[in-house]
Parts: sequence; structure tokens; C-alpha cells
Amino acid sequence: MPHLMNTYGRQPVAFTHGAGVRLYDENGRAYLDALAGIAVSTLGHAHPDLVRALADQAGRLLHTSNLYRIREQEALSDRLASISGMAEAFFCNSGCEANEAAIKLARLYGHQRGVQLPGIVVMEQAFHGRTLATLSATGNRKVQAGFEPLTPGFVRVPFNDLAAVESVAAHNPAVVAVLVEPVQGEGGINIAHLDYLRALRSICDARGWLLMFDEVQCGIGRTGKWFAHQHAGILPDVMTLAKGLGSGIPIGACLAAGAALGVFKPGNHGSTFGGNSMACRAAVTTLDVIERDGLMENALRQGNLICSGLRAALQGVAGVREVRGDGLMIGVELDRPCAELVGRARERGVLINVTVEKVVRLLPPLIFGDADSAELVALLAAVIREFLQA
Ligand SMILES: *Cc1c(COP(=O)(O)O)cnc(C)c1O
Repeated sequence: MPHLMNTYGRQPVAFTHGAGVRLYDENGRAYLDALAGIAVSTLGHAHPDLVRALADQAGRLLHTSNLYRIREQEALSDRLASISGMAEAFFCNSGCEANEAAIKLARLYGHQRGVQLPGIVVMEQAFHGRTLATLSATGNRKVQAGFEPLTPGFVRVPFNDLAAVESVAAHNPAVVAVLVEPVQGEGGINIAHLDYLRALRSICDARGWLLMFDEVQCGIGRTGKWFAHQHAGILPDVMTLAKGLGSGIPIGACLAAGAALGVFKPGNHGSTFGGNSMACRAAVTTLDVIERDGLMENALRQGNLICSGLRAALQGVAGVREVRGDGLMIGVELDRPCAELVGRARERGVLINVTVEKVVRLLPPLIFGDADSAELVALLAAVIREFLQA
């Protein structure tokens, strides 16, 4: 047995290499990757442009530290600012760290305005990470159980429920921010209504709250725009990124605009690895390829093909509650727990995920093609039918 802590329920397979949308296991068997390492492998596997950029960067410079200027980090901050409309970036290594930065920023913002114990509105079914602050912000008891005392200062409301946020605004003067995923990923592919996001913007403007979007999973082109909230035509004050940003190289970012600018001062926050040359080169390359190859448009196209294909193939099948999606974030909700679908699909050569017990989750790489989507629909629909009709 490997000397690993028992923190994951792992599937009995290991991959030796990948190419495009395929992964290959130790027996040489190919799998269609419809999960992309949980929305991470934006460009699929062994993308030639990324391979070349990383090899070049590895031969030049991996890491120096934030004690110095880092040109690749500066370039990435400019690139992110231009595609997001945000003004400044802080770089770290993961989604939970990006959210830790956002939570610290919101608290400091509150303190700078004389709020002693600032609160942050968070959502039911939210997922923000596994550190103590981010698991406390997460709306899933399973993530929190056993780790009490939780970090205080989070006020939880139902997702997509504007009246609940208005009620908090009316009764809780210590609140300084709202933290929300425009599309909840771990929570089961729950899509925020665009009117809801716009109304949150208005409430935040009226109250002087920071509007903070966690786009760790839904950002980086996956929903057909660079960032999912851009469908609503609004700008947040804080946005967090990670998963797909480096296409497999670990990197996270906390971006700030508007009222969130200038809150952190030297000494307030930091990271040893955050934003090193290698990680930032991976991210800039990922963004370049997404733009050059039209991968946002492709994400929309493939998302529509997969959703409409699954709807047609599962039409009238008892036990299928809903097929929903936003670009290449797709959920198939069943009426019963269906974790075993993961193994059944893998045995047929397709990698998928099940979240919140009853939702099949698909997060394919943005390079998926029409034939890949058709293959995914055919295989997955067959596996779901068999499971439900057994
Ligand atoms: C995965 C995820 C996180 C946590 O990211 P890690 O890199 O695992 O720390 C935070 N927020 C959202 C929305 C996520 O999907």
C-alpha cells in the first residue's frame, strides 16, 4: 500500500499519459475525458502549445519569489485585467487560497470602514474549498463535520433567493460582502439567474458591500464567456479563479476592482509560490490558446450539443429529473443516488463525475469536438438508461 493519507475514495485506475481529450491507463486502454481533472485541463492533455511554453519556461526560470518583480506574473495580471475588466490581481496556488484571499480582503475592507466583526453572505450548496475559512463558507455539512469550531462571520442564505439577501441587508448591519458562485459546481450545477446576479450588484452598490464571485470552477471560458458572470453584463468587486486557469499547472488568483481596490497593503497577505514564472506562463498560454482557437464559442457549441443530445436520448426515461448546463458545465440530475455511474461509465471508457449524490457532472476540456460530444452522449445515455432500468 502506498503511504498516503486516506483522504480520497480513489477509483482503481492510474493514467500514464494523455493526448487531447483522451487519457490512457497503465494497460494502454483509452478513455474519453469528460471531467478534465475537475474543470482543470482546459486545453485537454499534452496540448502542443502548452507543452512548448512549459518546456521553454522550465529551461529558463521556474521560481524566484515575490520579493522580486516577476515579468510573467505582470503579463498575466494585464491579460486577466483586459479580459475581465478587473483592475488588480493577487496570485496563489489553488481555489481555496484564492477564496481565503477574498475573505481576508472583505474582512479588512470591513475593518477599514469601522465594522468590528464583518460578515459575509454565502449560499446554500456553495463550495469554496477545504481550508478552515473556506469550508466554513461552504454550504455542505459533510465538508464541515468534525472540523468545528467553524470560522465565524458567514451568513447563509438560499441560492437564487433575492428576498433572503434583502432580509439580511435589512437586519444585519455587520455584513460587508456577498460571496457566490455564478454557477455552483460541486453543489450540482446550479445556475444563478442573471437577474439575481444583477440584483446582487444593486444591493451591494446600495449597501457598500463587496460583490465577490467565486469563478474557480465556472470561469476561464467554460460557460462560453471568459467568466460566467459576464452573461449578466455586470462587474464584481472581487473574483476568484483557479482550476482551469493553468490548464493543469496549479495557480489561483483573486482579482479586485472598484471598492475592493487598495484594501491590501504590503504585509497583509502573501504566498511563497503564488504567481511564479512557470505557473503564470501556463496561465497566459492557456488564455492565448482559448482566444486564438475560439474555445469559448466551442464550449457553448459543445455544451449545447451535449445537453440537447442527452435530453433527446433520455426523453421519457423514468428517473431522469433534469439535464441542465451552462456551456461545458453540465449536470444530469436523477431521482436517486447514482455514484455507481462513475464506475459503470469508466468501464465503458468515459470519465465522468457524480456530485451531491444524484447529479452526474460533466466538465469536459474546452477542446472537445463534435464527434467527442456525440460519443459522450451515446455512451452516457446508454449507461444512465441501464442504471435506471436495472
Ligand atoms: C474546486 C473549487 C474550490 C476549491 O479549489 P481548490 O483548488 O481545491 O482549493 C473553490 N471554489 C469552487 C467554486 C470550486 O469549484
